Amino acid sequence: MPLSETPSGPVVIRSRRVVLPDGERPADVLVRDGRIAAVAEHGSLTAETVTDLGEIALLPGLVDTHVHVNEPGRTEWEGFATATRAAAAGGVTTVIDMPLNSIPPTTTVDGLDAKRKIAEGQAWVDLGFWGGAIPGNAADLEPLHDAGVFGFKSFLAPSGVDEFPHVEQADLETALAEQARIGALAIIHAEDPAVLEAAPQQPGVHYRDFLASRPDDAEAAAVARLLDTARRTGARVHILHVSSAAVLPLLRQARADGVRVTAETCPHYLTLAAEEVPDGDTAFKCCPPIRDESNRDQLWAALANGEFIAVVSDHSPSTLDLKLLAKYGGSGDFAAAWGGIASLQLGLPAIWTEARRRGHSLSDVVRWMSSGPASLVGLTGTKGAIAVGHDADLVAFDADGTFAVIAEELHHRNPVTPYAGKTLTGAVRTTWLRGRVVDVTAEPFGRQIARPTTR
Ligand SMILES: [Zn+2]
Repeated sequence: MPLSETPSGPVVIRSRRVVLPDGERPADVLVRDGRIAAVAEHGSLTAETVTDLGEIALLPGLVDTHVHVNEPGRTEWEGFATATRAAAAGGVTTVIDMPLNSIPPTTTVDGLDAKRKIAEGQAWVDLGFWGGAIPGNAADLEPLHDAGVFGFKSFLAPSGVDEFPHVEQADLETALAEQARIGALAIIHAEDPAVLEAAPQQPGVHYRDFLASRPDDAEAAAVARLLDTARRTGARVHILHVSSAAVLPLLRQARADGVRVTAETCPHYLTLAAEEVPDGDTAFKCCPPIRDESNRDQLWAALANGEFIAVVSDHSPSTLDLKLLAKYGGSGDFAAAWGGIASLQLGLPAIWTEARRRGHSLSDVVRWMSSGPASLVGLTGTKGAIAVGHDADLVAFDADGTFAVIAEELHHRNPVTPYAGKTLTGAVRTTWLRGRVVDVTAEPFGRQIARPTTR
């Protein structure tokens, strides 16, 4: 039967390359009632329906804990329908939405309710929400946490939108103390505003000038201050989108000192480099910025060492006019363009293309993009692994297939991505969500998920 049809009874999915928690091997996976019911020797299980993938790999669905959907309020930037279609097409079966760029932001229970209501019936994958910790909302954190957000995002430097102000040091102390008290995970955009203000600001189409305006020191100073505050408050903190390798020694030292800190990085920091950014191609603009090749090599070394718990997209699109892309008649000014990379559908092949070149396995990629982020948000046990009892969120991945990226053919809302024109290795053939094949042309059946209350 074609992969696009989902039978109602138990199904066996068979592959020569099943990526299991203890490594990759030939296996049969029995799916029943939306969950993985058994994992057995290749060729050993029977069911009315057997889907044999041959050499196509079977991976657990990716968990992307860093996605900006922007609905309600800025749905023209990105909405739940378009974002989750892109996710499903890219092998991402769980998305955790960031608390800002939507209006209202997710800084109150009312804001969370507005998101949940409008997302209803629009999600092709499972969907959860982060809350936001901003100046003055400390009293909102506990009710939001009880309502099921996975933790709270704060910015140490201006976020780019007025309704989500950054925290000064006193606000940060308050927010982290409260999060330590309620047992929440604080996730932090770490760039230091004083360092950014002191950096040279040279507008224009040259990427080098933009890079100089967001120096390594901005990240290092912010992370040092955050770690010091985490140490004093006892809060559990997670550094979002580490771009600069200058952060790595600070993380190592803090961990050695017993600070509860994790960190993530993103496909664009691992696969793109400042040297290759064309003049005026603001599709590459994000904050913190994509840095140079030697920095990228250091991020890969840290990733290989287990220093990042997750590799997640930081998918953060905007409309074409705000991106100021030279190719669409915009000024191409890096200083003025919206900062954000659109890549939700491409993270897996982008990372696999580079990982393979560097001698890494599919198991490594699954650890970085599926089980790692699942553990970050407490979803170990339901998401992020092909293991008995887990949701049958699965991806048929052709690890040798190649394709050229055409921005206009991607499912996210606005046809911009820095990967446009690149040839990537690794193609998602089928995505299953809780045992059902996801067909982005049919009705969505993603569910809204909440933070598990027992950790
Ligand atoms: Zn982000």
